Amino acid sequence: MSAEEPDFDVIVVGAGPAGAVTAYLLARQGHSVVLIERGEAPGAKNLSGGVLYGRVLDEVFPGFADTAPVERRITRHVTTFLTADSSVSIDYAGKPLAEPVNAVTVLRAKFDPWLAERAEEAGVFLMPGVRVDELLTEPGPDGVRQVVGVKAGDDELRARVVVAADGVNSYLARSIGLRPKPPEHHLAVGVKAVVHLPRQVIEDRFAVSGDEGAAHAIVGDCTLGIGGGGFLYTNAESLSLGVVLRLDDLIKKGRTAIEVFEHYTSHPVLAPYLRDGEILEYGSHLVAEGGLEMVGEVVSGGFVVVGEAAGLTINSGLTVRGMDLAIGSAVAAAKGVGEALAAGDTTATGLAAYRRHLDESFVMADLRTYGRAPAFLERDRMYGAYGELAAGIFHDVFSLDGTPRKHLAAVARGALKRSRVSVRDLISDGWAGVRAL
Ligand SMILES: Cc1cc2nc3c(=O)[nH]c(=O)nc-3n(C[C@H](O)[C@H](O)[C@H](O)COP(=O)(O)OP(=O)(O)OC[C@H]3O[C@@H](n4cnc5c(N)ncnc54)[C@H](O)[C@@H]3O)c2cc1C
Repeated sequence: MSAEEPDFDVIVVGAGPAGAVTAYLLARQGHSVVLIERGEAPGAKNLSGGVLYGRVLDEVFPGFADTAPVERRITRHVTTFLTADSSVSIDYAGKPLAEPVNAVTVLRAKFDPWLAERAEEAGVFLMPGVRVDELLTEPGPDGVRQVVGVKAGDDELRARVVVAADGVNSYLARSIGLRPKPPEHHLAVGVKAVVHLPRQVIEDRFAVSGDEGAAHAIVGDCTLGIGGGGFLYTNAESLSLGVVLRLDDLIKKGRTAIEVFEHYTSHPVLAPYLRDGEILEYGSHLVAEGGLEMVGEVVSGGFVVVGEAAGLTINSGLTVRGMDLAIGSAVAAAKGVGEALAAGDTTATGLAAYRRHLDESFVMADLRTYGRAPAFLERDRMYGAYGELAAGIFHDVFSLDGTPRKHLAAVARGALKRSRVSVRDLISDGWAGVRAL
């Protein structure tokens, strides 16, 4: 450790869910913690689809769904395959999803400040409007270079441990060579808008009532065949909607994210949900999509990486998860960093406790379960051919055009013959899908 006395036990960089919860839990253990955020307020720079799977947060803040700025409890999950003029959906509506808390919608401009306030109440010193430019390093007790603080402009702050919770790009972890620049196929671009609609209109259009909400996951024509999908979530008096597009496929197909987003919002199946809505916010952000392959190193001397900075996201095609994994990693980091501080060993060896807790948590368990999902979702047929096949089958089932009726199996065989999908594709994708999802 440096000869200079540290200013804090822990510096946390980034007041998203990962950073705010790590800071809160470490302060609760009695450590001095500063939480540094470059936005003028927590949440000001953040953008997320907005469905938070809330069980892990409920363990940190029991009953949070009743006190936090939560928009709606998701009780309806709709998965839709789109073609240019048709849609085929699976609509699961389940009241039991409301209680105990499962998925809720949040707007980050309200939710992140709430989390940061809880951290401040626990004694965390919040520094908004400050961008950390670099890490300070010095030789540690084991002779290996160790992180001893951060530099923001001309100011330096020192700590026993620095926690990087700085989101998908994690320049801090990259700056010391701990993590590589993510390859393009591990990243997606998200474009999102928040559209105001009166509460009653939302409830009528989405068939929900009270504080219930709906989450729509959409694939196919909405992304012009580009790997990724669209989302449409209900808030109390607004909708969160957008597209998440694999960066490598977007570049390969020569499209821009804005072009795809505009196509999505004007799609004849989507447009009626948005009618007469007023756009309140609009933005774009990268998302980590590499799954298990992207996790890599998360600990070095005096330094740990949490949340999306550590690549912790899961896109299974049905659900996009990042916030709950960010919070899960914060819980693991608070345990591991707490143990290292108590033992007086904040070298990489001491902080390895964080990695152990992370490996044992639901975060890594779920990343392992969905380890094959990113490769599976790279199959192009998901974004066009299967939607067309499903629409073809349902068209023939419901179109009574005077020709003699056929059994469903014969209808399906006919639609398959006309489609771009071969029996071989169907078997290969089916088997891969069973193993990936
Ligand atoms: C379009 C889109 C849709 C998504 N949909 C969902 C969804 O529905 N559900 C879900 O769970 N996840 C979703 N995600 C993913 C989710 O938003 C992230 O995984 C989650 O926000 C990660 O939390 P975090 O705390 O690790 O990082 P972030 O929320 O990114 O927070 C990082 C913080 O660090 C700050 N920061 C960065 N650099 C510095 C610096 N140098 N100095 C000071 N501060 C800094 C930033 O301003 C920011 O506040 C979506 C993402 C996108 C883009």
